[in-house]
Amino acid sequence: MPLSYASTSASSAPARRVIVWLRHDLRLHDHENFATLGGLVEEVLPVYVFDPREFAPDRFIGAPKTGPHRAAFLRETVLDLQARLRAIGSDLYVAHGPPETVLPDLAQQFGATEVRATREHTSEEIAVEQAVEKALRPVARLRLTEGLLLHHPDDLPIRLADLPLGFSKFRLQVEKKLRVRAIFAPTNALPAYPVRLGAGAVPTLAALTGHPDAEDAAEIDPRTAHPFRGGETAALARLEDYIHGRRLLGTYKQTRNGLVGEAFSSKLSAWLANGALSPRQVYAEVRRYEARHGANDSTYWLLFELLWRDFFRLVALRVGTAIFRPDGLRGQAPRPHQRPDRALFDRWTQGRTGEPFVDAAIRELRLTGWTSNRMRQNVASYLINTLRLDWRWGAAWFESRLVDYDPCSNWANWQYLAGTGTDAREGRAFDIRQQARAYDPQGAYQRYWAG
Ligand code: FAD
Repeated sequence: MPLSYASTSASSAPARRVIVWLRHDLRLHDHENFATLGGLVEEVLPVYVFDPREFAPDRFIGAPKTGPHRAAFLRETVLDLQARLRAIGSDLYVAHGPPETVLPDLAQQFGATEVRATREHTSEEIAVEQAVEKALRPVARLRLTEGLLLHHPDDLPIRLADLPLGFSKFRLQVEKKLRVRAIFAPTNALPAYPVRLGAGAVPTLAALTGHPDAEDAAEIDPRTAHPFRGGETAALARLEDYIHGRRLLGTYKQTRNGLVGEAFSSKLSAWLANGALSPRQVYAEVRRYEARHGANDSTYWLLFELLWRDFFRLVALRVGTAIFRPDGLRGQAPRPHQRPDRALFDRWTQGRTGEPFVDAAIRELRLTGWTSNRMRQNVASYLINTLRLDWRWGAAWFESRLVDYDPCSNWANWQYLAGTGTDAREGRAFDIRQQARAYDPQGAYQRYWAG
């Protein structure tokens, strides 16, 4: 059933006390809800709510929906946002509980008549948004703006209902006609923070995850290709370094299939996923690089990848919960011969399949929360085509483990590889040995993550 979609619901009457509810937009740069507050707002309360449901076991494999690495990255992000808000004389109110309970109480206490948030596009997030809207109704209105995509959905040159489910067709139809809207000025000042409400404390990892040993589980293996902290500060520093500092952008197309080290790809995904980094800011910096050093196939390719990111989100907007369905986006028959073999699945998640290229990547992902696009494709294809397990188990495990988990990019990429998603084709099986020879010819990656 497609999710209903309505465009931005801004209204003209200014509210004197406003809550900005932050979800996957954890930044001060390019933030419409901060940038458009205007002079008539007396006080603003930025709020982040840790929702316990996001840390609960998932319904496919019983793994925590947010595993230890992403939980730690999210905590760092929220702490960084709080510090950045404090640096401009504001603060971040942090709560732990269901937003539909927390926000109406807070709105009442604060006397807010408006709660602003960035619109979500996937079923669970929309359900929370709708519950919040309903619970707020007697007190305040919920005002939603777009902010998760590079391209505003209203700017699509085609109707959402006509969105092609194949990326190539989509790209051919829209790429030349799409414009990226200008970024909002960075938030350097805000209306007063209501200090009488306090700020709440960021929960410990143990409290968030319910596991006393969560700190140990969240430790990152020093061999990681993703040695980055959560938060806007680290995101902007990486963006600057990758694009302008070391100018790694200039050779991205040649290096992007690398496997070891931080330099072979941008590593921006985790900040993009929780909104510590705006995709439009990335776009603006790529254009700035091009103006100085010239455009080339690498600068184009990074934007091409961001178009894939938008595409998967727009697909989710179009097809709704079908991105999670075994029969896929077009209602195909589920993949045949799937084995409900939990022991086999556990061997895959432990990196003990006996296929060294696959096991190396699973170990990398377990120990760091990250692995490259190339390896994600290989381990997913192996689970689907060689082990013949239910692809949703693999997707759920990725959801738990990935530091950059994004519902659209994750589930739609799995669907794609399972042959039930966009560009649906049967038999998108990777020849793992051939992949290892092509991308790890000396076996360096496999040795790096061995044992
Ligand atoms: P770069 O190569 O530097 O690319 C720049 C940006 O483009 C990325 O940060 C990302 O935002 C976007 N991008 C690149 N490739 C893709 C892609 N195939 N699909 C969508 N966006 C892309 N990406 C996520 O952000 N979250 C996920 O949960 C996720 N799950 C995946 C699951 C599978 C099975 C596969 C095959 C891919 C998945 N990806 C996911 C896409 C991709 O692997 C990561 O975005 C990429 O590896 C992140 O590294 P990077 O930032 O260095 O990417």
